[in-house]
Amino acid sequence: MLRRNFLAASAGAALVGGAFQREAWGQQGTAGSGVFLERSATGRPHEGKVLLAVEAHSDDVPLFAAGTIAKLIEEGYTGYLVRATNDDMGDSPGLGTPGTIAESALGNERDTVNVAKAMGCKSHFNLDYSNHRMADVSVNEVISRMIFLIRLLRVDTVVCWDPWGHDEENPDHYTVAKAVEAACWMAGRDHDYEEQFAAGLKPKEVQDKYYFARRPEITRVVDISKQVDKKIDTNRANVAKGPGGHLGSRLRAELAAKGQKLALLGDDDLTADRNYIREFVLAGNRELGKKYGVEYAEAFHYIPAGAAGADRDPKVEAFVKAHAQKK
Ligand SMILES: [Zn+2]
Repeated sequence: MLRRNFLAASAGAALVGGAFQREAWGQQGTAGSGVFLERSATGRPHEGKVLLAVEAHSDDVPLFAAGTIAKLIEEGYTGYLVRATNDDMGDSPGLGTPGTIAESALGNERDTVNVAKAMGCKSHFNLDYSNHRMADVSVNEVISRMIFLIRLLRVDTVVCWDPWGHDEENPDHYTVAKAVEAACWMAGRDHDYEEQFAAGLKPKEVQDKYYFARRPEITRVVDISKQVDKKIDTNRANVAKGPGGHLGSRLRAELAAKGQKLALLGDDDLTADRNYIREFVLAGNRELGKKYGVEYAEAFHYIPAGAAGADRDPKVEAFVKAHAQKK
Protein backbone atom coordinates (compact mmCIF):
# COMPACT_ATOMS: atom_id res chain seq x y z
CA MET A 1 0.00 0.00 0.00
CA LEU A 2 2.83 2.35 0.84
CA ARG A 3 4.39 1.77 -2.56
CA ARG A 4 1.08 2.30 -4.36
CA ASN A 5 0.43 5.54 -2.48
CA PHE A 6 3.94 6.74 -3.07
CA LEU A 7 3.72 6.15 -6.81
CA ALA A 8 0.37 7.89 -7.14
CA ALA A 9 1.55 10.89 -5.14
CA SER A 10 4.93 11.27 -6.75
CA ALA A 11 4.29 10.54 -10.44
CA GLY A 12 3.59 14.17 -11.36
CA ALA A 13 6.39 15.64 -9.29
CA ALA A 14 8.85 13.07 -10.57
CA LEU A 15 8.05 13.95 -14.17
CA VAL A 16 8.81 17.58 -13.47
CA GLY A 17 12.02 16.52 -11.72
CA GLY A 18 13.07 14.52 -14.77
CA ALA A 19 12.39 17.49 -16.99
CA PHE A 20 14.50 19.79 -14.84
CA GLN A 21 17.32 17.27 -14.86
CA ARG A 22 17.30 17.25 -18.66
CA GLU A 23 16.99 21.02 -18.91
CA ALA A 24 20.45 21.32 -17.43
CA TRP A 25 21.85 19.81 -20.62
CA GLY A 26 20.84 22.57 -22.96
CA GLN A 27 17.92 24.04 -24.79
CA GLN A 28 15.13 21.86 -23.50
CA GLY A 29 11.56 22.83 -22.88
CA THR A 30 8.00 21.81 -22.22
CA ALA A 31 6.07 21.88 -25.46
CA GLY A 32 2.54 22.45 -24.21
CA SER A 33 0.02 19.93 -22.80
CA GLY A 34 2.67 18.79 -20.32
CA VAL A 35 4.65 17.08 -23.08
CA PHE A 36 8.39 17.57 -22.70
CA LEU A 37 10.37 18.36 -25.85
CA GLU A 38 13.82 16.79 -25.67
CA ARG A 39 16.15 18.64 -27.99
CA SER A 40 19.71 17.86 -28.98
CA ALA A 41 22.17 18.29 -26.16
CA THR A 42 25.53 19.94 -26.67
CA GLY A 43 28.59 17.81 -26.01
CA ARG A 44 28.32 14.33 -24.52
CA PRO A 45 26.30 14.67 -21.29
CA HIS A 46 25.57 10.92 -21.23
CA GLU A 47 29.21 9.82 -21.35
CA GLY A 48 29.65 6.65 -19.30
CA LYS A 49 25.96 5.70 -19.37
CA VAL A 50 24.52 2.59 -21.00
CA LEU A 51 21.38 2.34 -23.13
CA LEU A 52 19.52 -0.91 -23.81
CA ALA A 53 17.06 -0.81 -26.73
CA VAL A 54 14.70 -3.78 -26.68
CA GLU A 55 12.47 -4.74 -29.59
CA ALA A 56 10.35 -7.74 -30.41
CA HIS A 57 11.02 -7.61 -34.17
CA SER A 58 13.65 -6.25 -36.52
CA ASP A 59 11.48 -3.32 -37.68
CA ASP A 60 10.25 -2.09 -34.26
CA VAL A 61 13.16 0.08 -33.22
CA PRO A 62 13.95 1.33 -36.76
CA LEU A 63 10.37 2.61 -37.14
CA PHE A 64 9.68 3.95 -33.65
CA ALA A 65 12.91 4.92 -31.92
CA ALA A 66 16.00 4.81 -34.20
CA GLY A 67 16.42 8.59 -34.22
CA THR A 68 16.26 8.84 -30.43
CA ILE A 69 18.69 5.94 -29.94
CA ALA A 70 21.14 7.47 -32.45
CA LYS A 71 20.79 10.81 -30.63
CA LEU A 72 21.42 9.38 -27.17
CA ILE A 73 24.46 7.46 -28.46
CA GLU A 74 25.81 10.65 -30.10
CA GLU A 75 25.36 12.32 -26.71
CA GLY A 76 27.56 9.77 -24.95
CA TYR A 77 25.57 6.61 -24.26
CA THR A 78 27.00 3.19 -25.10
CA GLY A 79 24.10 1.46 -26.86
CA TYR A 80 23.03 -2.17 -27.14
CA LEU A 81 20.13 -3.63 -29.14
CA VAL A 82 18.11 -6.69 -28.09
CA ARG A 83 15.76 -8.43 -30.55
CA ALA A 84 13.45 -10.81 -28.71
CA THR A 85 12.06 -12.91 -31.59
CA ASN A 86 13.66 -14.58 -34.60
CA ASP A 87 11.24 -12.81 -36.99
CA ASP A 88 10.35 -16.08 -38.71
CA MET A 89 6.75 -14.92 -39.31
CA GLY A 90 8.27 -11.97 -41.10
CA ASP A 91 5.94 -11.61 -44.04
CA SER A 92 4.25 -8.26 -44.39
CA PRO A 93 2.28 -8.34 -47.64
CA GLY A 94 3.84 -5.94 -50.16
CA LEU A 95 6.68 -4.95 -47.83
CA GLY A 96 10.20 -6.24 -47.32
CA THR A 97 11.57 -9.26 -49.13
CA PRO A 98 9.17 -12.09 -50.05
CA GLY A 99 10.37 -15.60 -49.14
CA THR A 100 9.91 -18.68 -47.01
CA ILE A 101 9.73 -18.72 -43.21
CA ALA A 102 13.40 -19.77 -42.98
CA GLU A 103 14.48 -17.07 -45.45
CA SER A 104 12.59 -14.53 -43.39
CA ALA A 105 14.39 -15.57 -40.17
CA LEU A 106 17.80 -15.45 -41.89
CA GLY A 107 17.15 -12.13 -43.62
CA ASN A 108 16.02 -10.44 -40.41
CA GLU A 109 18.93 -11.90 -38.45
CA ARG A 110 21.36 -10.40 -40.98
CA ASP A 111 19.47 -7.10 -41.09
CA THR A 112 19.65 -6.71 -37.31
CA VAL A 113 23.47 -6.56 -37.46
CA ASN A 114 23.23 -3.58 -39.82
CA VAL A 115 20.33 -1.95 -37.94
CA ALA A 116 22.41 -1.95 -34.72
CA LYS A 117 25.41 -0.51 -36.58
CA ALA A 118 23.40 2.23 -38.32
CA MET A 119 22.27 3.59 -34.95
CA GLY A 120 25.80 3.38 -33.52
CA CYS A 121 25.18 0.48 -31.11
CA LYS A 122 28.21 -1.32 -29.73
CA SER A 123 26.62 -4.74 -30.00
CA HIS A 124 23.32 -6.62 -30.19
CA PHE A 125 21.66 -9.76 -28.79
CA ASN A 126 19.03 -12.08 -30.31
CA LEU A 127 16.80 -13.88 -27.79
CA ASP A 128 15.35 -16.05 -30.59
CA TYR A 129 11.74 -16.58 -29.47
CA SER A 130 9.28 -17.63 -32.18
CA ASN A 131 7.65 -14.69 -33.90
CA HIS A 132 4.03 -14.01 -32.82
CA ARG A 133 4.32 -16.77 -30.20
CA MET A 134 5.61 -14.82 -27.22
CA ALA A 135 2.22 -15.10 -25.51
CA ASP A 136 3.20 -18.74 -24.90
CA VAL A 137 6.61 -17.88 -23.48
CA SER A 138 7.22 -17.85 -19.73
CA VAL A 139 7.32 -14.15 -18.85
CA ASN A 140 9.53 -15.05 -15.92
CA GLU A 141 12.07 -16.53 -18.31
CA VAL A 142 12.15 -13.32 -20.38
CA ILE A 143 12.38 -11.27 -17.16
CA SER A 144 15.35 -13.32 -15.96
CA ARG A 145 17.14 -12.96 -19.31
CA MET A 146 16.57 -9.20 -19.25
CA ILE A 147 17.77 -8.98 -15.64
CA PHE A 148 20.96 -10.78 -16.68
CA LEU A 149 21.57 -8.32 -19.52
CA ILE A 150 20.77 -5.27 -17.36
CA ARG A 151 23.26 -6.41 -14.71
CA LEU A 152 25.89 -7.55 -17.22
CA LEU A 153 25.83 -4.34 -19.28
CA ARG A 154 25.13 -2.03 -16.27
CA VAL A 155 22.16 -0.46 -18.04
CA ASP A 156 21.02 3.07 -17.09
CA THR A 157 18.25 3.64 -19.64
CA VAL A 158 15.91 1.36 -21.62
CA VAL A 159 14.04 2.05 -24.85
CA CYS A 160 11.23 -0.45 -25.44
CA TRP A 161 7.60 -0.99 -26.42
CA ASP A 162 5.13 0.55 -23.97
CA PRO A 163 3.72 -2.27 -21.82
CA TRP A 164 0.64 -0.07 -21.35
CA GLY A 165 0.17 1.09 -24.98
CA HIS A 166 -3.33 1.06 -26.50
CA ASP A 167 -4.65 -0.77 -29.56
CA GLU A 168 -1.76 -3.22 -29.59
CA GLU A 169 -2.42 -6.30 -31.73
CA ASN A 170 0.95 -8.01 -31.58
CA PRO A 171 1.42 -10.23 -28.51
CA ASP A 172 5.22 -10.12 -28.84
CA HIS A 173 5.18 -6.35 -28.27
CA TYR A 174 3.39 -6.30 -24.94
CA THR A 175 4.95 -9.52 -23.67
CA VAL A 176 8.51 -8.27 -24.13
CA ALA A 177 7.56 -4.83 -22.79
CA LYS A 178 6.06 -6.24 -19.59
CA ALA A 179 9.15 -8.39 -19.06
CA VAL A 180 11.46 -5.41 -19.54
CA GLU A 181 9.49 -3.23 -17.14
CA ALA A 182 9.61 -5.89 -14.41
CA ALA A 183 13.29 -6.60 -15.07
CA CYS A 184 14.23 -2.92 -14.69
CA TRP A 185 13.02 -3.05 -11.10
CA MET A 186 13.96 -6.63 -10.14
CA ALA A 187 17.52 -6.32 -11.50
CA GLY A 188 18.25 -3.89 -8.66
CA ARG A 189 17.33 -6.30 -5.90
CA ASP A 190 19.63 -8.46 -3.79
CA HIS A 191 17.57 -11.65 -3.63
CA ASP A 192 16.35 -12.05 -7.22
CA TYR A 193 18.49 -14.51 -9.19
CA GLU A 194 21.25 -14.28 -6.60
CA GLU A 195 23.23 -17.01 -8.39
CA GLN A 196 24.13 -14.31 -10.94
CA PHE A 197 26.15 -12.58 -8.20
CA ALA A 198 28.31 -15.67 -7.81
CA ALA A 199 29.21 -15.20 -11.49
CA GLY A 200 30.39 -11.65 -10.74
CA LEU A 201 27.29 -9.62 -11.55
CA LYS A 202 25.88 -7.00 -9.19
CA PRO A 203 22.36 -5.60 -8.69
CA LYS A 204 21.54 -2.77 -11.14
CA GLU A 205 18.20 -1.00 -11.20
CA VAL A 206 16.97 0.90 -14.28
CA GLN A 207 14.74 3.90 -13.63
CA ASP A 208 14.96 5.83 -16.91
CA LYS A 209 12.62 4.47 -19.62
CA TYR A 210 11.56 5.60 -23.07
CA TYR A 211 8.46 3.60 -24.10
CA PHE A 212 7.23 3.71 -27.71
CA ALA A 213 3.92 2.38 -29.03
CA ARG A 214 1.37 2.74 -31.81
CA ARG A 215 -0.77 4.82 -29.47
CA PRO A 216 1.30 5.68 -26.45
CA GLU A 217 0.50 8.07 -23.68
CA ILE A 218 2.88 10.74 -24.98
CA THR A 219 4.82 12.55 -22.28
CA ARG A 220 8.03 13.19 -24.21
CA VAL A 221 8.75 14.16 -27.80
CA VAL A 222 12.35 13.83 -28.95
CA ASP A 223 13.69 16.13 -31.67
CA ILE A 224 15.52 13.79 -34.08
CA SER A 225 16.08 16.36 -36.88
CA LYS A 226 19.87 16.04 -36.50
CA GLN A 227 19.72 12.25 -36.62
CA VAL A 228 17.29 11.88 -39.51
CA ASP A 229 19.94 10.46 -41.89
CA LYS A 230 20.79 7.78 -39.31
CA LYS A 231 17.10 6.92 -38.97
CA ILE A 232 16.90 6.61 -42.77
CA ASP A 233 19.98 4.35 -42.83
CA THR A 234 18.55 2.22 -40.01
CA ASN A 235 15.33 1.70 -41.95
CA ARG A 236 17.23 1.03 -45.17
CA ALA A 237 19.11 -1.73 -43.30
CA ASN A 238 15.76 -3.37 -42.51
CA VAL A 239 15.51 -5.08 -45.90
CA ALA A 240 13.75 -8.37 -45.12
CA LYS A 241 10.81 -6.81 -43.32
CA GLY A 242 10.56 -3.23 -44.56
CA PRO A 243 8.62 -0.97 -44.89
CA GLY A 244 11.79 0.94 -45.82
CA GLY A 245 14.58 -1.38 -46.95
CA HIS A 246 14.93 -1.42 -50.69
CA LEU A 247 11.34 -0.53 -51.57
CA GLY A 248 12.47 2.72 -53.17
CA SER A 249 14.80 1.05 -55.63
CA ARG A 250 12.20 -1.66 -56.24
CA LEU A 251 9.60 0.97 -57.15
CA ARG A 252 12.15 2.74 -59.33
CA ALA A 253 12.77 -0.53 -61.25
CA GLU A 254 9.04 -1.23 -61.59
CA LEU A 255 8.44 2.23 -63.03
CA ALA A 256 11.43 1.95 -65.38
CA ALA A 257 10.01 -1.31 -66.77
CA LYS A 258 6.89 0.64 -67.69
CA GLY A 259 8.91 3.52 -69.14
CA GLN A 260 8.16 5.82 -66.18
CA LYS A 261 10.13 7.53 -63.44
CA LEU A 262 9.62 9.65 -60.34
CA ALA A 263 11.87 12.64 -59.66
CA LEU A 264 11.66 11.72 -55.95
CA LEU A 265 13.55 8.47 -56.58
CA GLY A 266 16.55 10.14 -58.27
CA ASP A 267 18.93 8.39 -60.67
CA ASP A 268 20.39 5.56 -58.58
CA ASP A 269 19.18 2.84 -56.18
CA LEU A 270 20.70 4.35 -53.01
CA THR A 271 19.00 7.70 -53.64
CA ALA A 272 15.74 5.90 -54.46
CA ASP A 273 15.81 3.91 -51.19
CA ARG A 274 16.75 6.88 -49.03
CA ASN A 275 14.30 9.35 -50.58
CA TYR A 276 11.49 6.78 -50.43
CA ILE A 277 12.11 6.25 -46.71
CA ARG A 278 12.33 9.98 -46.02
CA GLU A 279 9.10 10.69 -47.90
CA PHE A 280 6.91 7.76 -46.86
CA VAL A 281 8.34 5.91 -43.84
CA LEU A 282 9.24 9.10 -41.95
CA ALA A 283 6.01 10.94 -42.80
CA GLY A 284 4.70 10.41 -39.24
CA ASN A 285 7.95 11.72 -37.73
CA ARG A 286 7.63 14.82 -39.91
CA GLU A 287 4.00 15.42 -38.92
CA LEU A 288 4.81 14.99 -35.24
CA GLY A 289 7.81 17.32 -35.56
CA LYS A 290 5.66 20.01 -37.17
CA LYS A 291 3.33 19.90 -34.18
CA TYR A 292 6.25 20.64 -31.84
CA GLY A 293 8.12 23.14 -34.05
CA VAL A 294 10.95 20.84 -35.16
CA GLU A 295 11.62 19.05 -38.44
CA TYR A 296 11.43 15.39 -37.33
CA ALA A 297 10.43 13.86 -33.99
CA GLU A 298 9.66 10.60 -32.17
CA ALA A 299 7.07 10.17 -29.40
CA PHE A 300 7.44 8.38 -26.09
CA HIS A 301 5.71 7.57 -22.86
CA TYR A 302 8.69 8.52 -20.77
CA ILE A 303 9.20 7.18 -17.26
CA PRO A 304 11.74 9.29 -15.35
CA ALA A 305 13.86 8.26 -12.41
CA GLY A 306 11.81 8.12 -9.23
CA ALA A 307 8.46 7.50 -10.94
CA ALA A 308 8.71 3.74 -10.57
CA GLY A 309 11.01 1.12 -9.20
CA ALA A 310 12.13 3.09 -6.16
CA ASP A 311 11.79 1.07 -2.97
CA ARG A 312 13.07 3.94 -0.87
CA ASP A 313 11.10 7.13 -1.07
CA PRO A 314 13.41 9.66 -2.83
CA LYS A 315 11.95 12.33 -0.51
CA VAL A 316 13.97 10.69 2.29
CA GLU A 317 17.22 11.14 0.33
CA ALA A 318 16.31 14.75 -0.46
CA PHE A 319 15.45 15.46 3.19
CA VAL A 320 18.71 13.95 4.45
CA LYS A 321 20.71 15.94 1.88
CA ALA A 322 19.01 19.18 2.88
CA HIS A 323 19.01 18.74 6.66
CA ALA A 324 21.81 16.38 7.72
CA GLN A 325 24.25 18.03 10.18
CA LYS A 326 27.62 17.08 11.59
CA LYS A 327 27.27 15.33 14.98
ZN1 LIG B 1 7.00 -5.69 -34.02
